[in-house]
Amino acid sequence: MALANTIAAGEVVERPASVIKELVENAIDAEAKNISIEVHNMGLESISVTDDGSGMTRENLHKAFLRHATSKIFKISDLNDIRSLGFRGEALPSILSVSKIEIMSRTDAGDGYFLKLENSKVVDEGVAVLNKGTKIIVKELFYNTPARFKYMKSEYAEKNAITEIVDKLALSHPTISFKLYMDNKLVKSTLGNNQMNQLIEAIYGKKITEGMKVLSTYLGKIKVDAYLVDPKFVRSKRSDINIFINQRYIKNYVISQSIIDGYQTFLMTNKYPLCLLYITLDPSLVDVNVHPQKMEAKLANERMFAYQLAPEIRKTLESGNM
Ligand code: ADP
Ligand code: MG
Repeated sequence: MALANTIAAGEVVERPASVIKELVENAIDAEAKNISIEVHNMGLESISVTDDGSGMTRENLHKAFLRHATSKIFKISDLNDIRSLGFRGEALPSILSVSKIEIMSRTDAGDGYFLKLENSKVVDEGVAVLNKGTKIIVKELFYNTPARFKYMKSEYAEKNAITEIVDKLALSHPTISFKLYMDNKLVKSTLGNNQMNQLIEAIYGKKITEGMKVLSTYLGKIKVDAYLVDPKFVRSKRSDINIFINQRYIKNYVISQSIIDGYQTFLMTNKYPLCLLYITLDPSLVDVNVHPQKMEAKLANERMFAYQLAPEIRKTLESGNM
């Protein structure tokens, strides 16, 4: 059991940023409105995520650390229609197998409760005082897997990976307020007020939305909302092409390429544009790769969609200021 967890952990818990992704996705699934992330020493000393979501009862806290203890799949056919982000019940036990965890949680009803876990076992528990929601602290990540510990890239690379994950999660959820602290310094903060200009500036910097063009349309049954930043304000990289399908950040080469095509003559010295494309459609028309770390997704009829998208982007960029 413990061994199986450690093996599975290799897939879910590649680096501190992947732990953050799993914990924040749990908070999102619990319908949190405010999520605060605190990281010490690039996540190796501690990662804590605090949310004001549904919380867990004492019994569910215990259950959450059992393998496949997801509360999110009720029947097998749900796998074809994944709406919530987590659906495997693997993240918490996997993270626990390579760290020490303290978690406290409180639901609408009753007292809060805490668990302290080490070596994949509960070592302490009891009543805790907190507001509704959950706070989880992951300590000493990879303390028992020295090989993984050594494999960490530079501090710069790990911090970058963390910021990028939080950026994408915040951009996919405009109605949730996110805060990211690194070594006690607030490095990112979004309001969660559903104001796209404010959100984009909170992530990419003040004034970035000056001259930004917005495209809102339907291509067939697919709803498209694109925020197209003016290339003259940025030096952008491939990962600045943000694609979200049904509130999930994904990678898709065909769609990225059609965005680049649409931007073509506007790119000037940039190779890639900075933009955000939000696609909304029936989940049964999306094929999300279910591997925990892969973020690739395909659309049914993707080539047709990409073919229609490029000229819409070009037209929007050509139009006067909105
Ligand atoms: P999954 O998200 O795939 O269901 P996890 O291992 O990530 O599996 O979490 C296990 C379970 O613990 C979840 O299904 C959920 O019921 C509960 N849980 C985890 N984190 C939270 C949270 N922040 N708020 C409420 N419930 C949570
Ligand atoms: Mg999860």
